[in-house]
Amino acid sequence: MSASRSLDGQTALITGSTSGIGLQFAKGLAESGANIVLNGLGDEAEIEKTRAELASECGVEVRYHPANMLEPDEIAYMVAFAKSEFGRLDILVCNAGIQHVEKIEDFPKEKWDAIIAINLSSAFHAIKHAMPVMKAQGRGRIVNLASVHGLISSPFKSAYVAAKHGMVGLTKTVAQEGGEFGVTCNAICPGYVKTPLVEAQIPDQAKSRGISEEEVVEKVFLADTFTKKFTDYDQLVGLLRYLVSDAGASTTGVAIPVDGGWLTH
Ligand code: NAD
Repeated sequence: MSASRSLDGQTALITGSTSGIGLQFAKGLAESGANIVLNGLGDEAEIEKTRAELASECGVEVRYHPANMLEPDEIAYMVAFAKSEFGRLDILVCNAGIQHVEKIEDFPKEKWDAIIAINLSSAFHAIKHAMPVMKAQGRGRIVNLASVHGLISSPFKSAYVAAKHGMVGLTKTVAQEGGEFGVTCNAICPGYVKTPLVEAQIPDQAKSRGISEEEVVEKVFLADTFTKKFTDYDQLVGLLRYLVSDAGASTTGVAIPVDGGWLTH
């Protein structure tokens, strides 16, 4: 997706940006001129390759911080790192997330704890440390990755649905506290996007529901959409660019579906 350099000189920190949606967000913001702090798990050499390519292709500075989203202290260091590397922090995207699909009676408590920590509490910790920096700048843009599952439920996703609903609530409170300081906070709520996280769910969903993998895509993932299509990365990047722009200054505290009409049912 082509972009103007409207974010030249800004700094963007994107959690969980070594894969999937987060990586595309990092690319989208880098193409618009922002310096980037990547974060996420993965092979060290692969991450370094991604970092170097992003920097050279987009003509921006790109750093990587390995903070584990299960560890509040590491998240605090990551935010401080972004500020100290670039002298400012303009954009925080809380995107890291994991999934586990199982009936509630069989749902492992370790999975519940990890999903709440990574998909919800990590955003709290990152925002807690980013907010003072953004308030002092008199401007900031916080974008939380929720999901349609921040607004409705699906079976076998108790922890994910709880965490994403929490993310929508957190978004509203942060927007309220940041508003008069020029800090906006919004939640993006995608329908299904074909990322490693979604690909990995197909066999689990087939098992939990007793249907084939093709039926999972047709009857579970896309059944309620008007478009009968997965949401694309570009459609999410387009919304992110709007939310972080000056034109997005009055859009705050909202949870925006990008779901092919799913929630309109
Ligand atoms: P993904 O698995 O491709 O990427 C997840 C990212 O989070 C990776 O970079 C991974 O390394 C990172 N991560 C996971 N655990 C971590 C930890 N402990 N510490 C640091 N980083 C960690 O997944 P995705 O589909 O791109 O999902 C990104 C976000 O979008 C998630 O919050 C997800 O819930 C949300 N979302 C995805 C979809 C979809 O259909 N793919 C739909 C709605 C919402």
